[in-house]
Amino acid sequence: MHDILPEAVASWHRIEDVSRQVLTSYGYAEIRTPILEVTDLFKRSIGEVTDIVEKEMYSFEDRNGDSLSLRPEGTASCVRAAIEHGLLVQPQRLWYRGPMFRHERPQRGRYRQFNQIGVEVFGLPGPDIDLEIILITARLWRRLGFAGLRLELNSLGDPDERQAYRNELVAYLSSHGDRLDAESIRRLHTNPLRVLDSKHPETQKVIADAPTLMDHLGESTRSHFQSVCSGLDQAGVPYRLNPRLVRGLDYYNRTVFEWITDDLGAQGTVCAGGRYDGLVEQLGGRPTPAVGFAMGLERMVELLALAGHASDAPVHAYLVAVGEQAQAEAPFLAERLRDALPRLRLMTHCGGGSFKSQFKRADRSGASYALVLGEAELERGIVGIKPLREQTGQQELDFGDLVSFLAGLTKDTLDRGASAQLSGSISTRRLQ
Ligand code: ATP
Ligand code: MG
Repeated sequence: MHDILPEAVASWHRIEDVSRQVLTSYGYAEIRTPILEVTDLFKRSIGEVTDIVEKEMYSFEDRNGDSLSLRPEGTASCVRAAIEHGLLVQPQRLWYRGPMFRHERPQRGRYRQFNQIGVEVFGLPGPDIDLEIILITARLWRRLGFAGLRLELNSLGDPDERQAYRNELVAYLSSHGDRLDAESIRRLHTNPLRVLDSKHPETQKVIADAPTLMDHLGESTRSHFQSVCSGLDQAGVPYRLNPRLVRGLDYYNRTVFEWITDDLGAQGTVCAGGRYDGLVEQLGGRPTPAVGFAMGLERMVELLALAGHASDAPVHAYLVAVGEQAQAEAPFLAERLRDALPRLRLMTHCGGGSFKSQFKRADRSGASYALVLGEAELERGIVGIKPLREQTGQQELDFGDLVSFLAGLTKDTLDRGASAQLSGSISTRRLQ
């Protein structure tokens, strides 16, 4: 579990802001659910024989003796909330963001508390919505400047198709039982499709020649899948069919997909999702088709650094004030600047000291400019402004010109009413 320190937070904001913009632009509404749920919810949805439920959940008994778990993912909670609040009477396009908890072996890209942004759509059965959510993710990567993510796609069919396949898979895997790892042998009869998800190298070799589910799809699942593929073709989003893609959770059917990068080492899946038409009913709701995905934000933050994203200066300006009167004036000058420019990020010096020591702090604040108010400036009705990141000299501006100058940095638009109030204790006389 990690602390995210202030210097890293700008990257998080960028990812969160862009995600929210993009999701809102497709008409998705945010939902916020609790971090704790009853353990049974996850057992019933994710599946008893999965990594998550078998060994990764943070579960405990509360004071009433109920078993609760920190949520390991967001889908089960969204489904529970949608059922509980009667949201399923019409289609819903939802998104969520927040921390998830899994007791995994810690390694690069795998943490015990990590963050996801996810999407869940309820009530839409067709391939059009599968296509839409994949196009959302593709747009996100473009907006964030992520190159080199590849899309892998598979269809898991419907339950009856999977049943037929399951028998054939068990027969094949059993005939290679001597080469499978212990966990896969155990799962061979409880949940054989899970074996396809094994990370064990020798097992993976066996899996490479296993029969594929794709060959067991019926007419309707096949045409659903083809429609998703041709939509992607038309949209110009390249993809690769991966018949071994099964996902780590049991509730998926039909379309499943992952976005993978080679730039992050072994843990390269940045986003994963698919259709889960049976889950709502399985959790006690009316039968409702559903599809969604989740993105791992820690991995996206790493990608953002690789994409060379330059974050904004933490503050635009740092206000330096020397002399008793100037120091008394400074906070109110700052307040008036904030009134005029709501987007201005302005830090005022606190704690007194010489020009030299205040400038040192201004520099360390990361600000682009120092604003200087000394007794002389105060008397002349001007404020000094000195670039901290370039070798140009100090300028002197009256309050109105200062506001206009800073508006150029903040991209605040000044309305006439606001500029009319710009005169005051710093006079409008401009000296140079
Ligand atoms: P795997 O098979 O690699 O364990 P999973 O099936 O458990 O993956 P999902 O539950 O689908 O993964 O999670 C979706 C995304 O959330 C992942 O692609 C990844 O980006 C992120 N993620 C999952 N687990 C972790 C973790 N422990 N730490 C950081 N990110 C994670
Ligand atoms: Mg996992």
